[in-house]
Amino acid sequence: MHILTYPDPVLYRQASPVDRIGPAERKLCDQMLETLYQARGVGLAAPQVGVSVRIAVIDLNTPEIGRDPLVLINPVITRREGEILWDEGCLSCPGFRTEMKRSGEVWVRARNQEGREIEISGRNLLAVVIQHELDHFEGKLLVDQAGRLRKSLYLRKLKKMQREKS
Ligand SMILES: [Zn+2]
Repeated sequence: MHILTYPDPVLYRQASPVDRIGPAERKLCDQMLETLYQARGVGLAAPQVGVSVRIAVIDLNTPEIGRDPLVLINPVITRREGEILWDEGCLSCPGFRTEMKRSGEVWVRARNQEGREIEISGRNLLAVVIQHELDHFEGKLLVDQAGRLRKSLYLRKLKKMQREKS
């Protein structure tokens, strides 16, 4: 699947909850995971591939554990603890990074690809990725959450990248 990038309007929409988890939804999850691996990312939200629904796929793919896909459908954070600063990037904002303040640990209730209700918790990178993907459901993009200066530097960089492409 093609990953939409800033400033595509789909990225700014509120994503709808998924009310039925059937073959089409399962296929979407599989395609999103494939896209995530191809892009070498750690998380991808459905709005990033142009589907404005509350599905996120995550895989930290650490050397110790290897591939360990996590599918979150209609995820809701039920509890947060602590605070953490993390240098984040986003597949929809290529070439952009910024430090974000996030909760250090989060508890999440969601459904998985089979439609079963699951409860998970994550700390550090996993907590950051979960919060980042949930922002996508609200139409919140990393570039807009960074300071004004960082954003204007990025816009300049984007223009330069586009000039070099054409
Ligand atoms: Zn992102």
